[in-house]
Amino acid sequence: MDVSHILNNLNDAQRDAVTAPLGNMLVLAGAGSGKTRVLVHRIAWLIAAEGLSAHQVMAVTFTNKAAREMRGRLEELLGYANRNMWVGTFHGLAHRLLKMHWREAKLNENFQILDADDQLRLVKRIAKQLDLDESHWPARQIVGFINAQKDEGRRAAHIDPGQGDLYQRTMLRAYTAYEEACERSGIVDFAELLLRAHELWLYHPELLQLYRQRFGHILVDEFQDTNTIQYAWLRVLAGDVVSITAVGDDDQSIYGWRGAKIENIQQFSRDFSEPRMVRLEQNYRSTANILNAANAVISHNSDRLGKELWTEGLEGEKIDFYAGFNEQDEARFVVDEIQKHVNNGMARTELAILYRSNAQSRVMEEALIRAGVPYRIYGGQRFYDRLEIKNALAYMRLLNNRHDDAAIERVINTPVRGIGAKTVETMREYARDHGCSMWHAGSSLIVNKHLPNRAASCLEDFYNLIEKLDNDTTELDLADIADHVITVSGLIEHHKKEKGEKGQARVENLEELVSACKVFEPAEDSEEERSLLAEFLDTAALDAGEAQADEFEDSVQLMTLHSAKGLEFHTVFMVGVEEGLFPHKMSISEPGRLEEERRLCYVGITRAMHKLYITIAESRRMHGSETYNTPSRFVKEIPVEYLNEIRMQAKVSRPMSFGRAAPSSASFDNYAIPETGIALGQRVIHSIFGEGVVLNFEGQGKSARVQVNFDNQGSKWLVLAYANLQVI
Ligand code: ATP
Ligand code: MG
Repeated sequence: MDVSHILNNLNDAQRDAVTAPLGNMLVLAGAGSGKTRVLVHRIAWLIAAEGLSAHQVMAVTFTNKAAREMRGRLEELLGYANRNMWVGTFHGLAHRLLKMHWREAKLNENFQILDADDQLRLVKRIAKQLDLDESHWPARQIVGFINAQKDEGRRAAHIDPGQGDLYQRTMLRAYTAYEEACERSGIVDFAELLLRAHELWLYHPELLQLYRQRFGHILVDEFQDTNTIQYAWLRVLAGDVVSITAVGDDDQSIYGWRGAKIENIQQFSRDFSEPRMVRLEQNYRSTANILNAANAVISHNSDRLGKELWTEGLEGEKIDFYAGFNEQDEARFVVDEIQKHVNNGMARTELAILYRSNAQSRVMEEALIRAGVPYRIYGGQRFYDRLEIKNALAYMRLLNNRHDDAAIERVINTPVRGIGAKTVETMREYARDHGCSMWHAGSSLIVNKHLPNRAASCLEDFYNLIEKLDNDTTELDLADIADHVITVSGLIEHHKKEKGEKGQARVENLEELVSACKVFEPAEDSEEERSLLAEFLDTAALDAGEAQADEFEDSVQLMTLHSAKGLEFHTVFMVGVEEGLFPHKMSISEPGRLEEERRLCYVGITRAMHKLYITIAESRRMHGSETYNTPSRFVKEIPVEYLNEIRMQAKVSRPMSFGRAAPSSASFDNYAIPETGIALGQRVIHSIFGEGVVLNFEGQGKSARVQVNFDNQGSKWLVLAYANLQVI
């Protein structure tokens, strides 16, 4: 086989690494220097040139997405697909191992995985059983304790109850009860996957032996973010038998808060014999401006292993910095820029919006939805994305609108009520042919007796159910509607019948939906007449995955900075880069955590290949309160020659905020809101709320909304057209 193509497009250092004889190797290099490329090409080389067979190779990546990409690249390089190869995340590989050896691992054959939300819920229940007061012993803290113990390889039985240490004893009690509960119902959380897989080596030397003989080489990407148990698992598996290639970058270690040990990089040279050390210094990803900015930021960290990173690439465009007037303005700016790029022919998948915390995505999502731009969010399933919640919402949507076809499709036979795929297909056809809704189609089919008797009667039952739900709930408030719907529709019953933890979690989620309805307040104090149910459904729909693009649709990529690791995009928007948000206010006072935040910033900047935008919102409403913000210290660490400050496009002309303190609302006093006769800073009176000061606005003319800080009622957003404000 001709293998030369495997070595094409590699520089000398990369080629040396790829073709090095089997043995331990540590590639330590900066972002975009080709570490992942070396890893993939090395696998191809070992198989094509060194005669390893595919099933002798194990490759560990950081995300499933990365694993899929790696398989694709390998297929290209080798010219054939290979299913035998073990390519995956630590969790994925551990899962595979446990599936094969469930007996030895003392698991049920069909053990279930407990995701993070389910785990939290289980712990909540356990805490209740143990009479632990939630305000003293938050479930999250207990989960944190349990996971941290597992990540260090410790079971409850290994932990010393401590002498009179209440914290230790309480946590231990919870951990023990949790272990028992998982054992009883045959479930395994994420950390448990790793721990069990590790114990498999420890308690079953014959298995360990088998795998040591099997694997010829192990390759690990993003090595800087391995935790104790992952490292131990590798260490034991490899022994002195299997060699390892580890690639990583200490400057990109961003999971310390979850137990990752940057020290594993140094530990590697001690634990694995005669490792070949490889440095890669040329960056192929980013323009010089972007790379220089990244280098400047990360140089503020201490204790770095130290790497030089340079590029032959073009200087490129400067980094655009935009300070939005508020979070809406920030989002509008980002979406406008996105549309410009798309109009110029760029694929949406080449555009990424990266943010520090999940909660920030919401405003961006809303702006994208309004502009009709398809987008996708990576990582984590949100509440309104969950199957059972979508089902419940579908019933509620039908109360609101019978002609909601998607809702009908979703719940017509959930819970099962004997309406088969054939009936649904007949309805679809009828609806298509007559240009009517599914609901309408169904009733026509019944009336005209176009359905077999049994099918018709089942369908009729469904129609009656919806009508009855509607009639019974007309007088109820939102939470009671939800409660009624989940019960009478049979959803609760349906999930209660489901065995095990999953079903239980789904029932709890449905109950949480009722609580969500209880606390639901329309997003703004708009005075439009709209039923609360409709408004709630809209809000939920915005939140749910149905607003997301299909996996294969060309769509803008949204994700947290953490989940962007290892990826690259033509254009990146880093949003909300504000002091207090990023670096997060919790980490500002702790040097170690601040440095981790800075590494996260380095990761973010280095995702961009050609163009980077950094944005902030000078005032931001989040978690129900409003903050005034300055640009993050990380922005100030970027030398000004790499930055281009975009002038505010909004209709507000005022001095730019970059580099100076946040404006008080007084700084844009007297700015007249176009076509409204009202100005910022002006005192106004409202018939119900009384007197206040106009602080902020969005839109103009009839649709303008203003924020007024009322003397006695606090700040509210009002639609000007309805608010009837009188200028004092
Ligand atoms: P990160 O630290 O972000 O994970 P990395 O070191 O793994 O980055 P890669 O993703 O492997 O870097 O490579 C970065 C980009 O540079 C990719 O688009 C890759 O195809 C390209 N690249 C790497 N090496 C070369 C090369 N020798 N010639 C041309 N392009 C290259
Ligand atoms: Mg990489």
